[in-house]
Amino acid sequence: MSGTAEPTVFERIAAGEIPARMVLETERIIAFHDIAPQAPVHVIVTPRDGRHRDVVELAAADPELLAELVGAAKRIADELTDGEFRLIFNTGPAAGQTVFHVHAHLLGGGLREGSLA
Ligand code: 5GP
Repeated sequence: MSGTAEPTVFERIAAGEIPARMVLETERIIAFHDIAPQAPVHVIVTPRDGRHRDVVELAAADPELLAELVGAAKRIADELTDGEFRLIFNTGPAAGQTVFHVHAHLLGGGLREGSLA
């Protein structure tokens, strides 16, 4: 939890207070399907603990946890997609961040559709 502040929505998911379609749970990380998917596979990967508001803070404070989060994303992508994926950390309101509890958007599956590459 984030000190005396209200728990974040993701802390409430981690605590089982808000239901979510979980895809992975470890001691320090949870991952679940986004409620408003933007890709065939759209999973939120986040620490259980919401004390770090964004990836810049997390990288400075606990780089091991950030590495754990990226490793979890790779394991999920291997399971749910062809193993190739986008990992997006919206950082700050102007960049579209709405939940101030660091999290990665794991996007995959069908991303090549419509590509000019
Ligand atoms: P942000 O905009 O902060 O980068 O991403 C927050 C993401 O969390 C959004 O994509 C939003 O759809 C997702 N989200 C917000 N509340 C919930 C919820 O209660 N359950 C689930 N599964 N996803 C949520």
